[in-house]
Amino acid sequence: MNGQKIINRDIEIEQMVREVSADSLKSYINKMVSFGTRNTLSSTTEKKRGIGASREWVVQKFNEFARNSDGRMSAFVDTTTLQADGRRIDSAINLGNAMATLKGTDPNDDRIYIISGHLDSRVTNVMNRTSDAPGANDDGSGVAAVIECARIMSRHSFPATIIFVAVSGEEQGLLGANYLAEKAKKEGWNIDAVLNNNIMGSNNSNETNIIDNTRLRIFSESFSVQDTGRATLNIRSLGLENDGRARQLARYVKEVGERYVDNMEIVMIYRNDRFLRGGDHTPFVQKGFAAVRLTEMNENYNHQHQDLRTEKGIVYGDLVEFMDFEYLRKNTAVNLSCLANLAKAPSVPQEVKVDVKNLTNSTSLFWKASKTGAIKGYYILMRETTSPIWQKKIFTIDTAMTLPYSKDNYFFAVQSVGVTDNESLPVIPAVGR
Ligand SMILES: [Zn+2]
Repeated sequence: MNGQKIINRDIEIEQMVREVSADSLKSYINKMVSFGTRNTLSSTTEKKRGIGASREWVVQKFNEFARNSDGRMSAFVDTTTLQADGRRIDSAINLGNAMATLKGTDPNDDRIYIISGHLDSRVTNVMNRTSDAPGANDDGSGVAAVIECARIMSRHSFPATIIFVAVSGEEQGLLGANYLAEKAKKEGWNIDAVLNNNIMGSNNSNETNIIDNTRLRIFSESFSVQDTGRATLNIRSLGLENDGRARQLARYVKEVGERYVDNMEIVMIYRNDRFLRGGDHTPFVQKGFAAVRLTEMNENYNHQHQDLRTEKGIVYGDLVEFMDFEYLRKNTAVNLSCLANLAKAPSVPQEVKVDVKNLTNSTSLFWKASKTGAIKGYYILMRETTSPIWQKKIFTIDTAMTLPYSKDNYFFAVQSVGVTDNESLPVIPAVGR
């Protein structure tokens, strides 16, 4: 099937994407590196060194941007005390996530979108809290993307709420993300998507001479934790193993990111994270939220989790000089375009169903309007069962549609579309009788 999708860029998002600046990103990373170490176990009281000073600086940046937000953005360090755990915390610590919330403008819209990176850094020994651990790429790159998105987006308004967060404790065991995900679950936050950015500003691998700043990986899990019992039976019988919440989000990021960012291919990896490795989206995934990880195409392990040193002419360490800020600019723009498109879009269509009353070679879908947002219409999405991406997008202003294609041979979904063409996440139809 030849898919042809011509979707205009939203001018507001296009302008925001143009504002993403390689120089700004570089300045944030230089500042983060200047705190010496940002190890989670390092000082929280020193003024110029350690995790405490660095998280205060992130919140100070957020507060600077908040001044342009008409009172919609607020920021603080969300702290908690963690006791020694016999693993990667050897004595009680004060853990803190630097967070900014850009409140949505629609009081009836409770959707939340989260962009995260991790502020903490490490050297070879994860318990080393004193040696310099610049963490320029791991994960200065992710945090710089978070700060840059906050800078640009704080001057715009969105119906839904966006949270910008630099978590801590990633290297010590995803502690800050876990703390935030638990709080979100307990307080019943309606989190629609989490974009976790970790290691995405270097363009080369240490083993080969590949240099590539045109591809970005997105990791997503196929199933969701809710997929147990009857839900699993449904997935097996309908072949929906590629339509879990995180996988849908990854597909959305690929489509929208590539729509707004030139010379960029988003490569979907059908796996929650890199082989046997972890990241801050996982605590969210484990609590049933749609969360994905964005990571550079090729990692350079000479510059990751390494003591600063030179051996046999090879410089080890996570230093600014090894980064590609044009690549980081594009990867930040992917995040920004997706966050903006999601937060501007109406909420998802409700009660989406596929009619199975009669056996037929056509497919009839019906649904109810979105709860919130100004709706222009809906897209019916369609793809072959072997296709990783949606191949056709059909627009309608109705809340029902019959297509001359068999539900035996294609997957379908429905998205709501807002007045400036921003689409919601897709909803897979349930069986309707
Ligand atoms: Zn790391």
